[in-house]
Amino acid sequence: MKYYSTKNKKITANFRTAVINGIAEDGGLFMPEEIPQFPAGMMQSLPNQSLHEIGMQVISKFAGYMDQLSLLKIIEQAINFNAPVKTLSESLSILELFHGPTLAFKDFGARFLANAMAHFNKDEDKELIILVATSGDTGSAVASSFYGKEGIKVGLLYPSGMVSQIQEKQLTTMGKNIKAFEIEGTFDDCQRLVKTAFLDPNIKEKFNLSSANSINIARLLPQSLYYFYAYGQVKKNLGIDDVIFTVPSGNFGNLTAGLIAGKMGLPVKKYIAAVNSNTVFTEYLQNGVFKPRPARKTLSNAMDVGDPSNFVRIEALFDKNINRIRQHIYSDSATDQETIATIKSIYEQYKYIIDPHGAVGCFVNEKYRKINPGPAHAVVLETAHPAKFADCVEPALNMKIEMPARLAACLNKQKNALKISSDFNTFREGLIAEMK
Ligand SMILES: *Cc1c(COP(=O)(O)O)cnc(C)c1O
Repeated sequence: MKYYSTKNKKITANFRTAVINGIAEDGGLFMPEEIPQFPAGMMQSLPNQSLHEIGMQVISKFAGYMDQLSLLKIIEQAINFNAPVKTLSESLSILELFHGPTLAFKDFGARFLANAMAHFNKDEDKELIILVATSGDTGSAVASSFYGKEGIKVGLLYPSGMVSQIQEKQLTTMGKNIKAFEIEGTFDDCQRLVKTAFLDPNIKEKFNLSSANSINIARLLPQSLYYFYAYGQVKKNLGIDDVIFTVPSGNFGNLTAGLIAGKMGLPVKKYIAAVNSNTVFTEYLQNGVFKPRPARKTLSNAMDVGDPSNFVRIEALFDKNINRIRQHIYSDSATDQETIATIKSIYEQYKYIIDPHGAVGCFVNEKYRKINPGPAHAVVLETAHPAKFADCVEPALNMKIEMPARLAACLNKQKNALKISSDFNTFREGLIAEMK
């Protein structure tokens, strides 16, 4: 399997290079040249398959020459937690993606990536530097996944004052091979700094650079597994095979992974891209114009993205044909007020505590179902544990949420971050000094 750059189909790489480099040399994102197809028989057997079994079948098609035993080891080490489907009603289930070490779905992609990179890098003598822009959850998942990995250092860039207290602790208290940069700017500034660093000759000369953002194809592929898995669970538990997936979206990596699962043969009825007040993609579906703009701060801050990086991949999957995109994806948004109201109503109706990101999903899902009633079962992806967003969820429900031990552990540790301007030259100097 080869991977091409979304900016130029002639620029290609194998799986290893796509994973290690993260981004194509022209700044494009890597996409598989073809999407492998699964026979209908595989869909029939999904109810009886574990995440690991699905993982081997799906990822081995994309990983080309990689030997099966190494791949199995990577998958088993990466996905050492489960993804339960909680059914709330005949028409609604929640896919809980927060059972990993940092309590957010990003553990799936980040842990797979870390183990794959360590595998590919083990015979290299040059150290690998991973740069990550994070609006919160990416950074903690990456930090935890790469912590202590030999021959790899990680630089985390996060927007000052725009991540929750708990998130900041998770980002800045790891130590060892993990360095945090507190950027005086927005998440989009952080992303710009990372993208610029990749093209900067000075930095390239000094380090072997790579990314761990959702732009890395190895972050994306393992996220497609739980779409197959959830489909199988809904079929097994409810006997339903008409499934809609609702995906709380920011950079649209999670949704892209779901679309790839669909292209492989998973019969998804509709994808619903749920966003907060950052509505660039919703507007694109409405009026055909993709117009990035600065991110707005909301309660579902891991989705505060004004220029979703995976948009080019979605375009690539549908040959830039907006009508085909509209056929598969519906998109709508929730305000902060609607998010809070949904956290309350989901608890009142089902005694289920949902986090603000999942709440955006539930709100938009309900909106869609009102316009499009039908027998399909909706699976809303719950992308983070509510305790991670206690500042928002506790006052909304007027109750205390129990904090999982793996989250509580970092709260008493000392913050350690380099606070720095979003000007590229200043950042470059700081980066070079820190990574020496
Ligand atoms: C990253 C994140 C999202 C958005 O996912 P994308 O793949 O960037 O669309 C949603 N919810 C949470 C909790 C996240 O951490």
